[in-house]
Amino acid sequence: MVTRRLVVASHNQHKIEEIKAITAHLNLQVLGLPEMGDYPPVLEDGETFQDNAKKKALEIAGLTGELVLADDSGLEVDALGGAPGVYSARFAGEPVSDGRNNELLLHKLAGLPLAERGAQFRCVIALAAPQGEVQFSEGICRGVILFEPRGRGGFGYDPLFFLPELGQTMAELQPEVKNTISHRYRAMRGILEPIRRLV
Ligand code: IMP
Repeated sequence: MVTRRLVVASHNQHKIEEIKAITAHLNLQVLGLPEMGDYPPVLEDGETFQDNAKKKALEIAGLTGELVLADDSGLEVDALGGAPGVYSARFAGEPVSDGRNNELLLHKLAGLPLAERGAQFRCVIALAAPQGEVQFSEGICRGVILFEPRGRGGFGYDPLFFLPELGQTMAELQPEVKNTISHRYRAMRGILEPIRRLV
């Protein structure tokens, strides 16, 4: 049986590994951008997750001629009116640092009780066929922002993102558990059928 390729338009190794784990049951060879050669990162200058995901998927599909999946995701904090949102990766400026982003988030929420620290991760996946057709799927995962980091797994804001129903932060979860509840998993679920159809 011929194994079809799916390129993940990202240099973020954590995202690539999560997407590989979520698609492991499909008969697909999933490749991150670093495995494809020397592609520079796509400039993420859109105002929405959907704009950025679409841009990344189409640009990389055009350059590689492959079926391409792009994830644009971030943290939306209720008390900050949905910030940092599309600016999640660069919340504390350049160079990008998860540690400084988490410190800034704690600083901005200082003094707020747990009941006012609601937040969600949002992920939009764009799937671009080499011919240029694009399909989207979105996933949301709700939680609260803790007062200090907990756990060593995951990436980004995971150590501060607490899931009350599980009693753990995203960074405390085993990867196989994160990959069955996360915003990325939920967005991927909606795109699996379109992937199956295209391959
Ligand atoms: P992107 O590469 O522009 O989509 O940036 C995503 C940013 O959102 C990351 O750098 C993280 O700061 C944050 N983020 C997205 N998904 C996750 C996740 O699963 N856990 C923690 N942080 C995440």
